[in-house]
Amino acid sequence: MKRIIDKANRIYAEHGDDLDQIVESLGLNVVTDRLAGRLKEYHVGDSIVVNESVSEKERRELIAHAIGHHLFHAGNHLAMQKRIYSFGNYHEKQANVFAACLLMPSERFLKIIKGRPRLDEIAGHFGVREELVRMRFMVWVNYERDLTGRQSARVG
Ligand SMILES: [Zn+2]
Repeated sequence: MKRIIDKANRIYAEHGDDLDQIVESLGLNVVTDRLAGRLKEYHVGDSIVVNESVSEKERRELIAHAIGHHLFHAGNHLAMQKRIYSFGNYHEKQANVFAACLLMPSERFLKIIKGRPRLDEIAGHFGVREELVRMRFMVWVNYERDLTGRQSARVG
C-alpha cells in the first residue's frame, strides 16, 4: 500500500487535486454516460466512463478511483474479470486507497485532523463523501500513523 500512498502524494504535488489536469496528463479522458444498473464507473482503454447520475463529490471519487486502476492495474475492469476471485477485491481496495490519498493527500490530511474536526467537516473540506474519509482514516491508521511521530488525533 505504501507505493500507492506515495504515488498519490507525488501526483498531488505535481497537479494538486485538479482531476481534469491529472486525467489529461495521463493521456486519459472522462466520458459521462448513462450506465445501466449498479455500474457507476468503468475504465476501458483510455476512457474513464462515469455514470451521469452521480453527485459531484462521487464523480470526483470515481474518477480518482479509475485513475488508480489505470496506474496500478494496467488494464481495465473487463480484463480483470478473469482474475476477480484472486485479485478483484484487492484491486478495488487499492483503487479506493489511491482515490482517498489523492483527494486527501497526506500532508493536508494530517494538518486538518490535528484540529479534530467531525467527519462531515473533513468531507466538506476535501469535497468528498464521508465514506471516503473513513477509508482515508483507515489508511492513516494502518500505514502512516507510525511514520509521522505518534499523532494523537482520535478516530471515530
Ligand atoms: Zn474499480
